[in-house]
Amino acid sequence: ILARGRDVCRRNGLLILSVLSVTVGCLLGFFLRTRRLSPQEISYFQFPGELLMRMLKMLILPLVVSRNMFPANLVEATFKQYRTKTTPIIKSPKLASEEAPPRRILIYGVQEENGSRVQNFALDLTPPPEVVYKSEPGTSDGMNVLGIVIFSATMGIMLGRMGDSGAPLVSFCQCLNESVMKIVAVAVWYFPFGIVFLIAGKILEMDNPTTVGKKLGFYAVTVVCGLVVHGLFILPLLYFFITKKNPIVFIRGILQALLIALATSSSSATLPITFKCLLENNHIDRRIARFVLPVGATINMDGTALYEAVAAIFIAQVNNYELDFGQIITISITATAASIGAAGIPQAGLVTMVIVLTSVGLPTDDITLIIAVDWALDRFRTMINVLGDALAAGIMAHICRKDFAQDMGTETVSLPQK
Ligand code: ASP
Repeated sequence: ILARGRDVCRRNGLLILSVLSVTVGCLLGFFLRTRRLSPQEISYFQFPGELLMRMLKMLILPLVVSRNMFPANLVEATFKQYRTKTTPIIKSPKLASEEAPPRRILIYGVQEENGSRVQNFALDLTPPPEVVYKSEPGTSDGMNVLGIVIFSATMGIMLGRMGDSGAPLVSFCQCLNESVMKIVAVAVWYFPFGIVFLIAGKILEMDNPTTVGKKLGFYAVTVVCGLVVHGLFILPLLYFFITKKNPIVFIRGILQALLIALATSSSSATLPITFKCLLENNHIDRRIARFVLPVGATINMDGTALYEAVAAIFIAQVNNYELDFGQIITISITATAASIGAAGIPQAGLVTMVIVLTSVGLPTDDITLIIAVDWALDRFRTMINVLGDALAAGIMAHICRKDFAQDMGTETVSLPQK
């Protein structure tokens, strides 16, 4: 038994450490609240967590660019398949362009006066350099992941057509990709340490839990129950019906990514770990992962859609506003559209809530009612967002298995890089 226990610990060491660090972070946070630390002390305490967030964000850009640009000769074929097959699983860009709110609300913190939603969406697909990585006061990160994916994939297609003259850039991207994955392999050992301070630091900042709990308890419990049903039943059943594979095995493979989502509240920041888990544990074709995950982290947000609908209904009830069936449907549809417009960063869903509330004439100021618990709910909905993206990649891998088997170059069979 001891030998087996040791073996399990060796294989799942990082995962066990991550679970422990979430627990220690919660306990430490609640313990330190009783010590009444000064804001200065709290900011020192939060520093290791900040470092973790920086590390993750630093990796996203090179990872997404290098993974979408190589191998250029396969990108075009892959794209043809994705264009038709991704559409039913995650929202097609066309649908998103018609329904999504102007994404510039998130990027610049102000709504653009000119230009329709379709125009704004199209602009994000073709980002000028400063929009690729732009931080603005009031937003934690303005990275336009979707734009970067489109740009890199277009470059990949062109490089493929250039033949030998494009080879140096292709091998540059291969090197970049390998070196980023090596950095990820080392950085993951820092994550359990960072998670402790990230979670404890957030608990130190929050308002008095008992006052907040009384006011918003039912609302928070409803959101969490909805997320649990969606994450434990609906998504896994969908995966099972389409692939006929065991969803528990799949979810076990991405547990580490789910914990990072819980700790960071950001599906974009979790991307490097989601990649790693899908390639190494679930053996998903890397071409599928590198396309579906970044797009999913930008527009496929099941958890956010669910939370926005519940929050709008809660705000209606607080205002004694009776919603009829048509309005509930309107809320569901706009919540889905608003979630497509939310970026994969902490509390982005809170900003796009404005669209849902406006659609049925609810007071947008009442968003302040739910802010107190949002930091916690954000963590759970981000986990579901990441789970949805990963399962979508799993389903895509299943649907495309024959096409990829035919065109199995060195890529498809290549197993995870160590
Ligand atoms: N934090 C979420 C995510 O990164 C977005 C949201 O606020 O709902 O997926």
